[in-house]
Amino acid sequence: MRIFDPHVHMTSRTTDDYRRMYDAGVRAVVEPAFWLGQPRTNVGSFLDYFDALLGWEPYRAAQHGIRHHCALALNPKEANDPRCAPVLAELPRYLLKDSVVAVGEVGYDAMTPEEERAFEVQLALAQENDLPVLVHTPHRDKAAGTRRTLDVVRAAGTPAGRVLVDHLNELTVGMVADSGCWMGFSIYPDTKMDPGRMVTLLKEYGTDRMLVNSAADWGRSDPLKTREVADAMLAAGFGEDDVDQVLWRNPAAFYGQSGRLDLSSGSEAGSDYAGNTIKRG
Ligand SMILES: [Zn+2]
Repeated sequence: MRIFDPHVHMTSRTTDDYRRMYDAGVRAVVEPAFWLGQPRTNVGSFLDYFDALLGWEPYRAAQHGIRHHCALALNPKEANDPRCAPVLAELPRYLLKDSVVAVGEVGYDAMTPEEERAFEVQLALAQENDLPVLVHTPHRDKAAGTRRTLDVVRAAGTPAGRVLVDHLNELTVGMVADSGCWMGFSIYPDTKMDPGRMVTLLKEYGTDRMLVNSAADWGRSDPLKTREVADAMLAAGFGEDDVDQVLWRNPAAFYGQSGRLDLSSGSEAGSDYAGNTIKRG
């Protein structure tokens, strides 16, 4: 079984996680830029973080046989901080980098005007750079937030097929299915979707445009949730080809629209770090 986790924050995870993910079948990940918990206070913090997602983290992943790509953006939460918003002016030069396969995560957190502005600016940047977009939906008032998200995407003229709307649940999947956007589901240990509910939705909505991720980060989360969904699908009567579509081919097709997805093995990713002291320390 091969697994592509299309949304996981490996920066916050240990090398043991990489090893366990590899053992579970994970061979590729996309790490979207997000909020690190501790608020950033200046643009430079973002740039160091982006550089880590472009260099250091792919190197770390490669040590464990996993391909690492990233999505870059100003996340919704920090879009509200005037010290952070100027990173939008720095994004264009970062979106040119080879391992950037999407703009994201963008979207709404508390649905403020500042978030909406950052969302719109970044939808435009995605179109200018011919990149797909990963959209986070708010955890509070999710239905209203998702509806407004789809309105903003439509108004921006972003083609639905280039948008992945994430963190969906039973209340929001229908409107996203109707929109033509790709549907993302984050499987968490005790909130949002669990593997059983995910299988139920796959039975109801089919396997097209459906993506499953662990969204593992610094909070309570589990990077092996993708594998749990695959196992739950098989136990519920889905075939191996269905599992491969949802857990590998769908994310590969979505991010493949960037023209930059490289899933070949034998990665040289991050070889700049070969002499890094981490090897000796
Ligand atoms: Zn995330």
